[in-house]
Amino acid sequence: MVEELPIQKYVIQEMTSPEVREAMKETGIVIVHVGSMEQHGPHLPIKTDTSIGFEVSRRAAAKFHGRTGRRVLVAPSIPFGMSLHHMSYPGTVSLQPETLVTVMTEVCLGLARQGFRKILITSSHGGNQMWTDMAARKIFDGTDAKVLLLKSVWTKNKDDDWTRHLKSGMQGSGHAGETETSIMMALGAPVRLDVMPREPTKWRTPLPDFWAHGEEPKISGLSTMGTYNVEDVCDGYMGDPTYASVETGEKILENWSDNILELLLQYDTL
Ligand SMILES: [Zn+2]
Repeated sequence: MVEELPIQKYVIQEMTSPEVREAMKETGIVIVHVGSMEQHGPHLPIKTDTSIGFEVSRRAAAKFHGRTGRRVLVAPSIPFGMSLHHMSYPGTVSLQPETLVTVMTEVCLGLARQGFRKILITSSHGGNQMWTDMAARKIFDGTDAKVLLLKSVWTKNKDDDWTRHLKSGMQGSGHAGETETSIMMALGAPVRLDVMPREPTKWRTPLPDFWAHGEEPKISGLSTMGTYNVEDVCDGYMGDPTYASVETGEKILENWSDNILELLLQYDTL
């Protein structure tokens, strides 16, 4: 196994400015991850999305160096996302959608101005999706640097489907379910095993043919993200976290970061 690059060689917040100036010459690629600070049930910390998305992005950059000997840099995560649908749960911190777009745009355009030639935006929170689209377009229009948006680090690879590692199936894999709980265990977070929900939450849906959780609805086309409050549709988590394990979390982290590695290898050729 190739020895992994120390974080002070490619994670910007751990580097000095002269080191960044030199390192950015190797590929010119920077990953800008955006997460969220929102409630994740009674058993996971508020930082869950930001921790997961940063780790997946960081692993992909480390693997890129292992494969090519050249560096992709990882910017500090934008820790806050659009989490207004979680605001009734104490501890959730949300930006307004317009603010998120502005923060993302300023962070990415600033990095481009300093010389990064290719920006890869990654997101680890579903509530960010439409706003990351808006931001990516504004960034694209504001710089000569290339811009790619990976809307979700929950990437699916049809040659190696990560959901095969789940013991509860996709039904158990939503917000704060088996997937996120397993990953946080793998990251060594103090998951509250003692208060972990013993039963899958009941998804309370007013339009059963149009809303689904964990699978496709019967009739598609209805946009729901951002038009509900979490307490109205579930109990703060979805699926079944009781199936979670360190082993599953590690496998999923490897799968997602391998997918992002493939993206970086192709981006590097542009
Ligand atoms: Zn989450």
